[in-house]
Amino acid sequence: MQINAIRGFSDILSEDAALWAEMENLAREVFGLYGFEEIRVPIVERTELFKRTIGDTTDIVEKQMYTFTDLKGDSLTLRPEGTAPVVRAYIENKLYTVPVQRLFYFGPMFRYERPQKGRYRQFHQIGAELLGELAPSSDAEVIQMLEIYLDRLGLKDKTIEINTLGCAACRPAYRDALLLFLKDKVEDLCENCQRRVEKNPLRALDCKSAKCIEATQNAPSTIDHACAECSEHFNGVKDTLEKMAVTFEINPRMVRGLDYYTKTAFEVTATGLGAQNSVAAGGRYDNLTKELSGPEVPCFGFAIGFERLAMLLNKENFNKAKKVVLIALGDDAVTAALKKGGTLDTLREAGLRVIFEHSEASVKSKMKKANKLGADYVLIIGEDELKEGTVTFKDMEKGEQVKTQLSDIIKMVKA
Ligand SMILES: [Zn+2]
Ligand SMILES: [Zn+2]
Repeated sequence: MQINAIRGFSDILSEDAALWAEMENLAREVFGLYGFEEIRVPIVERTELFKRTIGDTTDIVEKQMYTFTDLKGDSLTLRPEGTAPVVRAYIENKLYTVPVQRLFYFGPMFRYERPQKGRYRQFHQIGAELLGELAPSSDAEVIQMLEIYLDRLGLKDKTIEINTLGCAACRPAYRDALLLFLKDKVEDLCENCQRRVEKNPLRALDCKSAKCIEATQNAPSTIDHACAECSEHFNGVKDTLEKMAVTFEINPRMVRGLDYYTKTAFEVTATGLGAQNSVAAGGRYDNLTKELSGPEVPCFGFAIGFERLAMLLNKENFNKAKKVVLIALGDDAVTAALKKGGTLDTLREAGLRVIFEHSEASVKSKMKKANKLGADYVLIIGEDELKEGTVTFKDMEKGEQVKTQLSDIIKMVKA
């Protein structure tokens, strides 16, 4: 019997993989301009890392983690997000001895969710973390970096939403106000939120269930309960974003699905994805390093969902390299093509993407094959061409054919 991939796990085939590579390359370029450097962290971590950081009562930890016991009996988890592993690595490798670290990462994350369009159980993220900056202008700079990245990818119609989630000083009072508000609405919440409302009432605000969205419609806002320090920070972020001409909206309902966020939280949404309209999200997490027994370091970061972003981009804008198929007829022509410094070497050194047709078929069936391979141009070298020092060049789209010098062909393909 044929063996297929697991539900929610998908193959990234060449067309998408080419787009993904472009997305990664551009992230390296743009994030690099802001001083960010790449870090690669493991895919598997101790389960405790995620329980302590993301929060025991979040959907991720309660229901979505791929947790297993290894042969030694340790509880391990496939990472459901990238921030906790990066912060773990930051502490373990004492990266805090440098006052500010700017790190980015790519890679797969795993959550046991119901698969749907743009949402998979193995999904991929590009993330960036700025560790060691407290100033509100640093939040704004990271948001600007993300905006520029998405702009350069050609993502249209996006909205940046920001909110403040408060800090250890003002969060308890907000929590009380929210609990008071939810007190006579507990019955209206989904089962999950009913169960955890006492422990973590904030979760009802980002619960996707229609019941919870309805019930929390007029919930008190974190902005109204922010302490002086949090308000000042939030104003600083807004001021800087305005100076940078980064357009944003304030969304007092946005709380994010992880417990570690403090102060600024933000989300980038885009049209064209239906209900699942979040492309990237992040925020400030000033207590996370301490939570993991490291020194107290203020941090800010975000993650972009690869699959969702890829769905919104026009694939045709990427992977522009033309495909050339080279057909050689007869032993001498094959040698002329394959030998060191031969036709193939010349074309590839010129930067052309060339596929050599290896089969010993007739020119007609070789042409058919080139067509099926999606060739933009076909080059043919036969006995005549060898004698004349020319190559036959066929533009597959236009159907035009000429016999000319290889150097002219390189010019034509590149133009
Ligand atoms: Zn506060
Ligand atoms: Zn709920």
